Amino acid sequence: MFCPFCSEQETKVIDSRLVAEGHQVRRRRECMVCHERFTTFESAELVMPRVIKRDGSREPFNEDKLRAGLQRALEKRPVSTEKVEQCVLSLKSKLRATGEREVSSELLGSLIMNALRDLDKVAYVRFASVYRSFEDIREFGEEIARLGD
Ligand SMILES: [Zn+2]
Repeated sequence: MFCPFCSEQETKVIDSRLVAEGHQVRRRRECMVCHERFTTFESAELVMPRVIKRDGSREPFNEDKLRAGLQRALEKRPVSTEKVEQCVLSLKSKLRATGEREVSSELLGSLIMNALRDLDKVAYVRFASVYRSFEDIREFGEEIARLGD
C-alpha cells in the first residue's frame, strides 16, 4: 500500500503480529523512501447476516453503528479501545456463528448487552438504570443496539 506520508508505493513490513485474539494482523511498515513508519490492520471480510428490525424491515449489519453504540455506553469508563475492538470482533463472529442470513434486532441487542456486561459492569448498570422503564432486559439491549443511530 502507498505510504501515507509521501505516497511512495514501496513499503516494507518490519513487524507483523496477531492481535484481537487472532482475528487481526497488525503490521508495522516502513516507507522505503521517506522512512516514516505506519501501522496497518488486516482482518478477514466475511458476509454478515442482515438485521431484521422490529417493524419487519431489513438492514445491513453496520459495524460502525455497533462500535459507536458500545463507545457511547462506555463513555468515560476505563475500557481501552483495544477492548472495544475485541468486543466488536467477538460480536461479529457470534453473529456469523449463528449461520443465519438474517438475525433479529432482538438477538443482536441481547448479544450486545451480554458483551457490555462482561466488559464493564458500571456502564452496564448505568444503562440499565437509565432504561429501567423498559419492560424487560431485552428491550434495554435493543435500545443499546440503536444508540448509533
Ligand atoms: Zn514515505
